[in-house]
Amino acid sequence: MTNSADELWLRQEVIDTAHAMSRQGLSPSISGNVSARHGKGMLITPSAMAYDELIPEDIVFMDEKGQTPPGARAPSSEWRFHMAAYAARADAQAIVHAHSRFATALACARKAIPAFHYMVAVAGGKDIPLAQYATFGTSELADAVAAALEMRKACLMANHGQIACGASLEDALALARDVEALAAQYVTVLQLGKPHLLDDDEMERVLERFQTYGQQDDS
Ligand SMILES: [Zn+2]
Repeated sequence: MTNSADELWLRQEVIDTAHAMSRQGLSPSISGNVSARHGKGMLITPSAMAYDELIPEDIVFMDEKGQTPPGARAPSSEWRFHMAAYAARADAQAIVHAHSRFATALACARKAIPAFHYMVAVAGGKDIPLAQYATFGTSELADAVAAALEMRKACLMANHGQIACGASLEDALALARDVEALAAQYVTVLQLGKPHLLDDDEMERVLERFQTYGQQDDS
């Protein structure tokens, strides 16, 4: 199914993003997975393969019905929530899912990330929500993730990890990195005592500024 230069380029970009996720410490062992919207379906990392072994042909095309071409590798066992996330968010062109350390720790304590810092607005709202727990690989988990992502570009996943969407693979990876950094900061704040949360009015102002000026990385 590698039938165009664009598709080949996108397959390589999925691999490069998986490498970067791993290099940046977001994805212990071979946990986590990466996909990019392609036509009416998506290109997704295969199940149980080390990222440094991947070549473009290993990336799996899956159509909107969840079908893969004959001879394709098995897609990531988490393909259902990737598909559900694209359905829930028309703006998502790429998805990064990671079991990054601090996001996963909070998710296992069943804690969402509230407005303890204005940067939670990077996920598109006043907090970073926690998707309800369901067994990995199931359509129940896909439904839970889709419900959380309807309002946000990223969420934690109970007893599992995090997922981040973006307008590009680079964007999705950057957001996953931001979520992990915020999770680490929030865990640290919790050790100091009760966090002082920003109120709704302040978060409205922050969200408005994010919309006007874009994400202020340097602020
Ligand atoms: Zn996972």
